[in-house]
Amino acid sequence: MKANPDEAHSLFTDLQHQYLAQIEAKLRQIEAIWARWQSGELQTDDLRELQRIAHNLAGSGATFGLAAVSDAARALDVALQPVIRRADTDEAAVSLASLVENLLDVMRNSGAPVPQPLSRGQPAAATTLIYLAGRNQDETEELARQIAYFGYTTAQFRSSAELLAAVERQMPNVLILDLDLQEGEQSGIAAAAFLHDRYGQALPMFFTASSSDFTLRLAAVRAGGRGYFTRPIDVGLLIDQIDQMTQRVNTEPYTVLIVDDSALMAEVYALALRAAGMRVVTTTDPLEAPMLLAEQPPDLILLDVYMPGCNGQELAAVIRQQPEYHSIPIVFLSGETDRSAQLAALAQGGDDFLTKPINLEHLVAAISSRIQRARAMRSLMVRDSLTGLFNHSVTQDLLIREVARARRSNQPLSVALIDIDHFKRVNDQYGHRSGDRVLKSLARLLRQRLRASDLIGRYGGEEFLIVMPETRAASAAMVVDSLRERFAHIEHQREGAPLRVTFSAGVAEWAHGIEASGLIEKADAALYQAKRLGRNQVLIADAQIGQPPQ
Ligand code: GH3
Ligand code: MG
Ligand code: MG
Repeated sequence: MKANPDEAHSLFTDLQHQYLAQIEAKLRQIEAIWARWQSGELQTDDLRELQRIAHNLAGSGATFGLAAVSDAARALDVALQPVIRRADTDEAAVSLASLVENLLDVMRNSGAPVPQPLSRGQPAAATTLIYLAGRNQDETEELARQIAYFGYTTAQFRSSAELLAAVERQMPNVLILDLDLQEGEQSGIAAAAFLHDRYGQALPMFFTASSSDFTLRLAAVRAGGRGYFTRPIDVGLLIDQIDQMTQRVNTEPYTVLIVDDSALMAEVYALALRAAGMRVVTTTDPLEAPMLLAEQPPDLILLDVYMPGCNGQELAAVIRQQPEYHSIPIVFLSGETDRSAQLAALAQGGDDFLTKPINLEHLVAAISSRIQRARAMRSLMVRDSLTGLFNHSVTQDLLIREVARARRSNQPLSVALIDIDHFKRVNDQYGHRSGDRVLKSLARLLRQRLRASDLIGRYGGEEFLIVMPETRAASAAMVVDSLRERFAHIEHQREGAPLRVTFSAGVAEWAHGIEASGLIEKADAALYQAKRLGRNQVLIADAQIGQPPQ
């Protein structure tokens, strides 16, 4: 579940109230211990209890806006440790009294906490808006059409005046503008310079131009242009850059498992991560973690260190002993500030150590960058390097998993096998590099137009397999057919002879009794039939297809 930022804020306020109530209760506990202390009845157990409370407060206060409580509690926590080891209550009574008094003081006067800002993250914009501006309406329109095939929303303008007004109303994700707008030669550069002054990096701009003249390129760079494309424009290259700029890949939300014995803290961390768009599962019971892991391996595990039953290091060691979880980063979250204790924890297989109380912004940032890196590493192993899609063997594994799931859940499942038409000719006539670009274009189109739940693999050289869970063959074929139509319109190269390419596809639906390999065979038979019937079409497998003619 993804909490929207405002919802998250009000939830956070609720949790803050709960926390304040807990503080009240803890204050009473400390006061009770303090009373025994003053009447000379202090027990070693009291000191242990006091340390537990102080440790807990130190690790949580600042997260809820009570930094002073964290500080006072930490001072007491640290001072109590050696005293408890020596079990010397007399010494404690003397040296620690002022720290306890100070903590009580701070807690009594903590008042309304200053709410800590929750990370709002990047709102996952449903569409990427691209403005195009240029004097020549036909050219601008054609470029807009090409870009729209990749699923971007576009709007077009001819003059600087129109463009500036539109940006003022709604800022696009990317602006592509010609050197020349309606106001005259190089008026585009002037418009860009103005926008760059006003919005800076927030508005990425690309120039299109007819000339590759150095002085023009320089002027474009000075006006804040991030790219410069001369006509005929290589749309594939342009889209690549836009993608990089807007980081728009069909990524699954990050998933995090939080194990913390304090339900309240687990919930606060979860809230902050969810507000940033992550999916979070929490548990307060470390013994439950293995079951949750097996159910849905997360991108990252956030582990509290001090927990009853099984502490964080032990849990990390257990997790690390299972090879299937080797690549999941484990991040410890603890009030432990002692570096050697931290290192000891890391030696058990943790990857990082975040110190409580943690600022929620930092938590989100640290966790995202960890996950990003881990995913990049993993993708090196499972992704095809040219297209970024799942490679052949991973695609097969995923299909086997999906077939098993369909069997279990009795949900439909369809696959589509796509094969580019006459691809050998593309390579022969335009060169291998152009061929590669076509493959990348198709991969990008598939990623952008399919659902996040659809799995896309590069099954062979110019063959792609799409696995569509919970989809009947008829709707799978419809989706693939609309992809086919879009793909056929893309101009892969503008210099020299125009290059347009088509594909054929076979779609098959899983039924009981069919294995993954059988399902692919059915799709392949339908694909073969589509090729035979003239290519550039999508066919659904049925009992007849693929059988030799009688
Ligand atoms: P059909 O319409 O019957 O599918 O004809 P085709 O030419 O596409 O089929 P064929 O299987 O005979 O040829 C596939 C070609 O794809 C041959 C191979 O050189 C090319 N190919 C495979 N992988 C790559 C690649 O990574 N890059 C490039 N540029 N070409 C590739
Ligand atoms: Mg082929
Ligand atoms: Mg082919």
